[in-house]
Amino acid sequence: MDLFIYNATYQIWICIHCCYAVTPRQFNTHLRSHHRHHPAARTAELRQAALAEMLKQPWIEPTREPCKFPPPDSAPIPGLPVYPGLRCPCCSYVSRSLATLRKHLERIHPETRRPRGRAFKAKPDIAATAESVSCQRFFVYGPESSFFIVIPPSPIRQQRLAGTMSEAEFIQAQVNRDIEERLADEAEQVQQITSQKHATEVSPWLDLTQWPKYLRSHSFSEVASLGMLPDPSREPLLTAFAQSVERLVKRAYHTIQDR
Ligand SMILES: [Zn+2]
Ligand SMILES: [Zn+2]
Repeated sequence: MDLFIYNATYQIWICIHCCYAVTPRQFNTHLRSHHRHHPAARTAELRQAALAEMLKQPWIEPTREPCKFPPPDSAPIPGLPVYPGLRCPCCSYVSRSLATLRKHLERIHPETRRPRGRAFKAKPDIAATAESVSCQRFFVYGPESSFFIVIPPSPIRQQRLAGTMSEAEFIQAQVNRDIEERLADEAEQVQQITSQKHATEVSPWLDLTQWPKYLRSHSFSEVASLGMLPDPSREPLLTAFAQSVERLVKRAYHTIQDR
């Protein structure tokens, strides 16, 4: 049925319009309440035929068996929205709001509860220190509907997953990003000193001093800053050296002048 995509790893069917997974038990009600006008869901017979077809793939029924959840370093599962979430500091529970996380801490980890009254400041609010994460969930209610952590998608990918970008716009955005990255690389290279010179360029001074060899891959602005005089307030030692060199040059000059 074109309303659903199948995820073989987690053995679930995800409704691409509603952006959540539907269980075999919820399937008929889901079609009747959300997609009544879809050509393949208009009659009970059509819905039954679609269910029979989809049941040919292994399909998890969370009221009877536990779901497999992705490890926290997994990329987002296609077809499901990615939400900002908070990870419980004491277990793997993930919540979308601070209030829900506080309730979870009170219920599951009562030892973290802050004493009321004067000792208020003595124990910090543990919920406020919860780590921000990106999360998803398979089902919107019932068993196995808890959130799980995924790695945050790129901003472009996030728009695609949220359905605010068409396939063509997604490809266009990725191509534009690649071009921008390449142009930025080229612009950076132009700012750098290379040891390769143009075939017509002749500089006996550069050939003798070999400066390009020493300065290769450094930027012009970095090298220019090396020519600046030291700042006496921040670099007193360097200032003393510079003054010493200046005195030495002056004395050498006078020595030559006086023969
Ligand atoms: Zn749906
Ligand atoms: Zn917890």
